[in-house]
Amino acid sequence: MKAAVTTAPRRMEIQELADPVPRPGEALVQVEVVGICGSDLHFYEGENPYSNYPQTQGHEFSGRVVALGTPGGGGQPSGGAVRVGQRVAVEPLVPCGECYPCQRGRPNCCTRLKVLGIHIPGAFAEYVVVPVETLYPADDLDPELTSLVEPISIGMQVVTRGTVTGEDTVAVFGAGMIGQAVLACAADRGARVLVVDKVASRLELAGRLGAERVVDAAQDDPAAVIAEWTGGDGAAVVVDATGAPAVIRSAVDVVAYSGRIVVVGISLQEVSLPISMFTRKELTILGSRNNAGVFGQAVDLVRRRGEGLRVLITQRYPLARAPEAIEFALHNPAVAEKVLLSVHDGAEAG
Ligand SMILES: [Zn+2]
Ligand SMILES: [Zn+2]
Repeated sequence: MKAAVTTAPRRMEIQELADPVPRPGEALVQVEVVGICGSDLHFYEGENPYSNYPQTQGHEFSGRVVALGTPGGGGQPSGGAVRVGQRVAVEPLVPCGECYPCQRGRPNCCTRLKVLGIHIPGAFAEYVVVPVETLYPADDLDPELTSLVEPISIGMQVVTRGTVTGEDTVAVFGAGMIGQAVLACAADRGARVLVVDKVASRLELAGRLGAERVVDAAQDDPAAVIAEWTGGDGAAVVVDATGAPAVIRSAVDVVAYSGRIVVVGISLQEVSLPISMFTRKELTILGSRNNAGVFGQAVDLVRRRGEGLRVLITQRYPLARAPEAIEFALHNPAVAEKVLLSVHDGAEAG
């Protein structure tokens, strides 16, 4: 099979690799469409602590099941029975099942977590092997929308961690794909959502995805707008989808007394926070990582709101041009919201 293999920092090449073979409990999936994620860019640049080469990246994908490992080897699909020929969304996480968080229903932060495309071969390839229990049937969706399920699941985890309801005001900092996913999931719950970014095109997308208010931080003071927007209360929930220390610092100011802050942005930097705010506001500050048990809800959201989400897809490349696509995404963050690679067309696999 053909695969786009990252062979060194900032070097990706198309290679011919042996087709992977599913073992019992695994499925062979023919990749249809795979998205390029911000975390793929970090890995590609060698800035992910787990960057290792050579590796086939890619964890946001749709595909068709073309073979199942020998039956009887265990493993039940999570989203319903899966058969050969079926289109699936794939939860790209392989937790150990035994560590402290795994034993407590938090496999998303498994201490020995394997993520497709980071620790094990991913979907920038014609075929990928995955555990059967990571498959979610998606025959009623098209391949592109199905590839959006995984990034949407990151937003679903954020609103689940932040217990977002239709009564809440939610301020989302950062309108990259994750911020947009948070917006989509919070708006779907009926919350009022305000989105902050410095890139006008991203804010325009947020408006189309249902943000009640957008704030261009290059021009306006988000804290003042949030105060006005909430009648002085502050936002019930503040989400950081930037990983910027200044944003996380400001979150404790713009969040309501008794409010929640959810950090999903990734950074190796540190931030200092005024301790008095923890008690004065009785804040709940949460991290959010991958998803724990809400992937099926992400499939459901894409099923209900998929057409509206299609605006997030900004560029499309064939797999053969993956090296060019990842370079484009790296150098054009303002216009590359979601870059997709098409691998196989949507026709029934033979
Ligand atoms: Zn991702
Ligand atoms: Zn574990």
